[in-house]
Amino acid sequence: MQASEPKGPPIDLATTPVQFNSPLPKAVDVVIVGAGIVGICAAWELKKLGKSVMVCEKGRVGGEQSSRNWGWVRQTGRDPDELPIMMESLSLWKNIAGETRDNNLLFSEQGVLYLANSNEKLKRLTAFAELAKSHGLHSQLLSSSEAKKHIPNYNGDVLGGLFTASDGRVEPWGAVPALARACSNAGVAITESCAVRTIEQTNGAVSGVITEHGTIKTNQVLVAGGAWSSMLTRQVDVEFPQLSVTSYAVRIDGTPELFSGNVADHGLGICKRLDGGYNIALTDYHDFVVGPDAFAHFKSFSQAAKHSWKDTHFKINAPANYPGGWRTARRWNAEQATPFEHNRILNPATKTKVIDRIKERLHERFDDMDNARVSHAWAGYIDTTPDFVPILDETPLAGLYLATGFSGHGFGIGPGVGNVMAKMITAAPVEHDLTRFRFSRFTDGSRLKLGPM
Ligand SMILES: Cc1cc2nc3c(=O)[nH]c(=O)nc-3n(C[C@H](O)[C@H](O)[C@H](O)COP(=O)(O)OP(=O)(O)OC[C@H]3O[C@@H](n4cnc5c(N)ncnc54)[C@H](O)[C@@H]3O)c2cc1C
Repeated sequence: MQASEPKGPPIDLATTPVQFNSPLPKAVDVVIVGAGIVGICAAWELKKLGKSVMVCEKGRVGGEQSSRNWGWVRQTGRDPDELPIMMESLSLWKNIAGETRDNNLLFSEQGVLYLANSNEKLKRLTAFAELAKSHGLHSQLLSSSEAKKHIPNYNGDVLGGLFTASDGRVEPWGAVPALARACSNAGVAITESCAVRTIEQTNGAVSGVITEHGTIKTNQVLVAGGAWSSMLTRQVDVEFPQLSVTSYAVRIDGTPELFSGNVADHGLGICKRLDGGYNIALTDYHDFVVGPDAFAHFKSFSQAAKHSWKDTHFKINAPANYPGGWRTARRWNAEQATPFEHNRILNPATKTKVIDRIKERLHERFDDMDNARVSHAWAGYIDTTPDFVPILDETPLAGLYLATGFSGHGFGIGPGVGNVMAKMITAAPVEHDLTRFRFSRFTDGSRLKLGPM
């Protein structure tokens, strides 16, 4: 296999000029912090419900996790409480391309295939197939030979599999900017290079946000800040456990057909890209930087740490101004520049060791890989909660809402979450049971139930 020089991430400050530059309004119904998939989808839905909305993004629309992911829009293997929102999300994805008439938002229904090489994994897939059935979702359990028929060139051990034909992908780096353009055309104000430094409160309720460019009056703020969310809410004493890990991905070209859709086995995730080649990542490897937040949330994350111990590689030194790093400010005065401005786009370095391991595994699992080459490599910072499911709730500070902690699976569910949060904020009925996603679950004495990673 020939390896070429890995290139940078899809969206960075050097190559992506500011595209959204709405003037700051004096006052607005709702301010959204963060223009990732979650913030932009919430803006889209809030606008439809007649609200005036301002989205503040410290870097670039979709510049962090939301452009760096595999693009899976996946019901397969979802947490039971997330599944109904995810099923709704999938139908929203299908509508969005039609509503916006933008091909960057096209959903390609290629299916998702999970392969099992152990009885334990097979048991988990069987349990999910039953859960899916109870929700009217067809997720087909496969024998070893049926699974191999889906992926004929695969040489790994397969005891069985699970295939959900209705799952698929949206190319992530185009999708969020495209939806932001549609929001902007519909009248949502969006500004890049505009960090929200803190939240203003009056008599125990939100009364505005202070950005690096001035103050906006509002009674409702949605924090959809990905890995940065807890740093912002800490400024108004709204604390919750959130830690982040680094995950790596590569684009490979020059291979024969590996699979026509999306497949994950015990070590690799493979996605066929619409523009050719495959995105490939390790499913059992991430880096975690031990910093002050790791100590502060040690107890909350102990179950999660036990669960993902073998896949976690510990590092001591976070680069400056990374969330949770030793040298990153934890509290600040809103008159001064904050870590949000010092680090506009989280852009972790790629890692040769991971790229080499991906190449090794591809050679082990498939034939004819001599012309395969790594044409692009990147990394993303994934924010997690102690139970691997997000927080979707109003916080104890009235008017401050959180949609964060998507733990590596927030892209596909983004439109569904946008819809849920827009309804919550406008006090419209939400059809889904959100108890599992409540803010208070980390402090109300209940035992945490880990979702699937
Ligand atoms: C390698 C990788 C593969 C993944 N694969 C998948 C997948 O296949 N399917 C899937 O569903 N999910 C996947 N995920 C997870 C998914 O990408 C995330 O869960 C999702 O993108 C989170 O979206 P978000 O909007 O919450 O956060 P983000 O995309 O991180 O957006 C948050 C935004 O908020 C901004 N911000 C933060 N603080 C402030 C502030 N104070 N002021 C202004 N702006 C601020 C940030 O700059 C950022 O742009 C993957 C993630 C990675 C890294």
